[in-house]
Amino acid sequence: MRDYLVAGNWKMNGGTAANAALLQGILNGLPEVSAAGAVELLVCPPFPFLEATAEKLAGTGIALGAQNLSEHASGAYTGEVAASMLRDVGCEYAIVGHSERRALFGETSATVAAKFEAALAARLVPLLCVGETLEERAAGRTEAVVGEQLGAVLERLGIEAFAGGAVIAYEPVWAIGTGHTATPGQAQDVHRHIRRLLAEEDAAVGEEVQLLYGGSVKGDNAAGLMAMPDIDGGLIGGASLKADEFLAIAAAAAMARS
Ligand code: PEP
Repeated sequence: MRDYLVAGNWKMNGGTAANAALLQGILNGLPEVSAAGAVELLVCPPFPFLEATAEKLAGTGIALGAQNLSEHASGAYTGEVAASMLRDVGCEYAIVGHSERRALFGETSATVAAKFEAALAARLVPLLCVGETLEERAAGRTEAVVGEQLGAVLERLGIEAFAGGAVIAYEPVWAIGTGHTATPGQAQDVHRHIRRLLAEEDAAVGEEVQLLYGGSVKGDNAAGLMAMPDIDGGLIGGASLKADEFLAIAAAAAMARS
């Protein structure tokens, strides 16, 4: 049975005081989540707050991740942050290919695959985001789009890149920050497809990779999504900025897992 992971993507929100309050709220609610069952938790604050967050998370069991990273290892890349630097300040995960990076910052699937490789080289777990736009879904291209995004990583690095811990988040672009969550059935269909694509390369890897759903997950819609057989947790944006919502999603995941 796969472990469940609930990850908070704080995006470009927060500050020193707000983050401290959010983390304290999450920590206060952890015993209740643990009572519901086992679930891994991850938070991904903006770069400037990674180190302070790492200090606050020490010994709590909550992992730290970055929202992005450079595909380059070091050098003259003004404004960029290398995977080794993220590792250095305590990150264990890095999100790669979030749809906002693809749509707003021109990241192609090839760039995303290079970032995935850079994360692995620094022993960070890459959390690869894939997902289709509304137009692509309407045109019946969901599986093709997700297949291309995943395929770019498989082509560059092979299925071995997903062995031993990589995570994939299916995040339909039309569901991110819109309040329009995919139905559990819609999400499950795409998750099953992703797992099949992995399993075609290596059955064991297909079985072990954690597949998260992301897109307007809230405390009150999490249980149905988490109950799906190929959904192993969530990547949470807006609701991860409210401790009670994040905890409610974590508890729903813990219950689904147990
Ligand atoms: C996200 O940005 O990864 C996300 C899922 O956002 P939201 O939960 O706000 O839709």
